[in-house]
Amino acid sequence: MTLKTFKGGVHPGDYKSATEGKPSVAAKPPAVAMIPLSQHSGAPCEPLVAVGDLVKKGQKIGDSDASISAPVHASISGKVIKIGTCRSSQGRTVNAVFIENDFQETWHEDVKPNPNWEQLSAEEIVKIVREAGIVGMGGAAFPTHYKLVPPADEPIKYVIVNGAECEPYLTCDHRVMLERPDDLVLGVKLVMKAVKAEKALIGIEDNKPDAIAAVTKAAANEPNIEVHALHTKYPQGSGKQLNTVLTGMEVPSGCQSSAVGCLVQNVTTCIAVADAVCFGVPSIERIVTITGSGIKEPKNLLVRVGTPIEELIEECGGFTDDVRKLILGGPMMGPALPGPEDLPVTKGTCGILCMTEAEVKEYEIQPCIKCGKCVEVCPMNLMPLFLASAVEHNMYDKAEAYHAVDCIECGCCSYICPAKRPLTQWIGMAKAEIKAAKRRAAAAK
Ligand code: SF4
Ligand code: SF4
Repeated sequence: MTLKTFKGGVHPGDYKSATEGKPSVAAKPPAVAMIPLSQHSGAPCEPLVAVGDLVKKGQKIGDSDASISAPVHASISGKVIKIGTCRSSQGRTVNAVFIENDFQETWHEDVKPNPNWEQLSAEEIVKIVREAGIVGMGGAAFPTHYKLVPPADEPIKYVIVNGAECEPYLTCDHRVMLERPDDLVLGVKLVMKAVKAEKALIGIEDNKPDAIAAVTKAAANEPNIEVHALHTKYPQGSGKQLNTVLTGMEVPSGCQSSAVGCLVQNVTTCIAVADAVCFGVPSIERIVTITGSGIKEPKNLLVRVGTPIEELIEECGGFTDDVRKLILGGPMMGPALPGPEDLPVTKGTCGILCMTEAEVKEYEIQPCIKCGKCVEVCPMNLMPLFLASAVEHNMYDKAEAYHAVDCIECGCCSYICPAKRPLTQWIGMAKAEIKAAKRRAAAAK
């Protein structure tokens, strides 16, 4: 089998052995679930329940009229005890519905299988996906229903299914491909029907041969679904790189994959689509990888949305004495957390990485030595050294001219830089400043 790959990228080591062989196990449902009303890109939801209301599992408890938003649902049955706030992964304070668990696991009446799912039209599938609150579960958390309605002049030919899981340490997508390959194929077929795509291309890195075998077997009778083994290299799972690797087409600067007739969906998201369309189950749980040398018993846990992260740490035996740093997600792109307190699992939480003193290296930032390594590894063909220099000198117009907005913030440049320059953070600042300047200019018109 020929392995597909892309230009640039790095090989940080996968560090997946602590959990890749561990089947997912159901985490204890939380005594109190704190369900954020904003778990996705776009507008936050307004609560549809009040303190004192009794709610059932799968009941919609928050929604918004905005097109880029997704409703949220109760992940347990019980009583609403507070409409308050909790922390988000970005460190913001967000509104949340707090539900006290009655441990009855009473499903809401709307949650029921649809025996006629094969007769559903594309529009009906999109509507179900929206009502189920499905967002990109690879971490991006962009509302899926919005992606399923591409611009009229950009018809979708290929559904690109992301099973790369290229971030070190994380194994939640690996487990889901091993444990639910048939549901994955079903979800892929539903996504294809929703966007009227001719073909689906599933990409899985070659460090997961068992997942490649399981998904290939599940798709054996589907002539329009191909499974491709990919070279293990970071960031193989980035949408634009995967697009190029699997179709040979490059997404133009400033555009989305739909510009070249492609739609990228993560494997776990596709399974959520199957759960919603065929079984009526909204997005209320997911697999989370809790790993790293700073946790006593690394695990893959099937977790209800709204479960406090502190409870998952406890379920994994607690921190080791030398734990030093917590990251939400993988080490390349995940944000560092000040601590686990007041932070719940959301639909986009792939993992919790607990790193020890020995693993967390601190370096002094040195001047650039013009070695060019950051340029070599940049998968977006950018020049990180010049972009960073523009930011250091507050020259954001220059950063824009160097295409800062095309940076996918993969972290490859920072990872490889011998001068330990925080290139990704600086370029991220430039992107934020360029966007803010555009907003200010639009408001001034
Ligand atoms: S400039 Fe952006 S896209 Fe390029 S390597 Fe750095 S973080 Fe990745
Ligand atoms: S990798 Fe670091 S030191 Fe080398 S050119 Fe890029 S910014 Fe400069």
